[in-house]
Amino acid sequence: MSDQTDDSTAGCPPIVRMGDPVLRQVAAEVADPTAPEIQDLIAEMTVSLAEAGGIGLAAPQIGIGRRVILFKVPDARATDDPDDGPCPLTALVNPSFAPLDDEMALGWEGCLSIPGLRGEVPRHQRIKVRGTTPEGSVFEAVLAGTRARVVQHEVDHLDGVLYLDRMTDLVRLGFTEEIMEAEAARKWLGADAGTGEQDG
Ligand SMILES: [Zn+2]
Repeated sequence: MSDQTDDSTAGCPPIVRMGDPVLRQVAAEVADPTAPEIQDLIAEMTVSLAEAGGIGLAAPQIGIGRRVILFKVPDARATDDPDDGPCPLTALVNPSFAPLDDEMALGWEGCLSIPGLRGEVPRHQRIKVRGTTPEGSVFEAVLAGTRARVVQHEVDHLDGVLYLDRMTDLVRLGFTEEIMEAEAARKWLGADAGTGEQDG
């Protein structure tokens, strides 16, 4: 216990972890994406995401069962797919997506609600995303690669689904430190396990 206050986390809602029932519930549609309470929610999520150092966050992860997500793709995580690439922090209200084809891709994911672990998860390579911006505009885009992966991970959170539920081979699950160590030593993973921030 300390009497010192850490200003960097002041007002920052804590990220709930696996086991909290809110992460297993279906979040409610937002009737008015431009409502002040939704703007406040997005502001709180932005602070929590920055504090945690992830690339995506869904409202249930700060204990709020509403259909709101944040995502971004840092330069280091973007793939060379023409529909991927770095993207700035984006907020979407009531997001949904549809796969554009049958192509699936395996990639490593972490989750701020399951700290310390990484797993290899199959996701649709290319999706069409729809949602509403916090300004009330329609957002529609084709996303691929990391962009598509992070959006699928965050929309799953709105439906009470965690990346572990999507894994098809639990051998490809482990603690980040051990995976990085093993990869550096023996390259047994074969694929980039993620050296930078990537949790959502
Ligand atoms: Zn997550």
